[in-house]
Amino acid sequence: VPHLKIEDLKVSIEDKEILKGVNLEVKGGEIHAIMGPNGTGKSTLSAAIMGHPNYKVTGGDVTLDNEDVLEMEVDERARKGIFLAMQYPSEISGVTNADFLRSAINARREEGDEISLMSFIREMDKQMGALEMDESFSHRYLNEGFSGGEKKRNEILQMMMLKPRLAILDEIDSGLDIDALKVVAQGVNEMRSPELGVLIITHYQRLLDHITPDFVHVMMQGRIVKSGGPELAKRLEAEGYDWIKEELGIVD
Ligand code: ADP
Ligand code: MG
Ligand code: MG
Repeated sequence: VPHLKIEDLKVSIEDKEILKGVNLEVKGGEIHAIMGPNGTGKSTLSAAIMGHPNYKVTGGDVTLDNEDVLEMEVDERARKGIFLAMQYPSEISGVTNADFLRSAINARREEGDEISLMSFIREMDKQMGALEMDESFSHRYLNEGFSGGEKKRNEILQMMMLKPRLAILDEIDSGLDIDALKVVAQGVNEMRSPELGVLIITHYQRLLDHITPDFVHVMMQGRIVKSGGPELAKRLEAEGYDWIKEELGIVD
């Protein structure tokens, strides 16, 4: 069972401290949601876990199954089963969706154990069907000309195909209409298992109407300032963030 542990994590961008000591544990079978106002460091947390070079870790630890994630190269983190569905997926011209996915799957496998073309196609057809994606998507260049919603579906397709042990979904719900939101949520719900820990980063509660998290955390000014269950997300939706600021004496 996967076990991600983040302890007192401090991260800077261009010498500005963004994360000021984040503590969080995500175990297999659990879905955690991180909510918070814009600019509080939510994407910084996901970028730091993935090892984005612009984000400098200045303190603390991140481990997956007691292995030091911060010491790992980016591709090693992916091989260990850490997956990030990004807020702004990048477009790659000249690489089709299918090619990208197949090499991403094979990069996580041992040499000689590559997925066969037939099983790859069968699996991709199946998952694209589940996500109500048109067949043509497999042959189109990665994210090129995809709408916002199509990019997000595509991120979930990658997740379903790669079968990560720890999935971080950063604002996967932004730019989705209600139908796409339901499809995406269903994809995540189908993947729920003890073998997968999920960290959902979201600005809005609406995704959490379709994916019930086990834990909800509020991030403000680079720290997790409050944690609770699904009811916390409902209260944030109804009342916003001001009551937390008042409760904690946060001035901004
Ligand atoms: P969130 O995802 O919670 O909206 P981010 O983690 O994206 O917040 O950003 C946290 C803070 O870091 C913000 O104040 C933002 O302006 C700053 N920041 C993000 N990316 C960069 C960057 N590339 N260069 C400088 N500052 C950045
Ligand atoms: Mg963000
Ligand atoms: Mg360290």
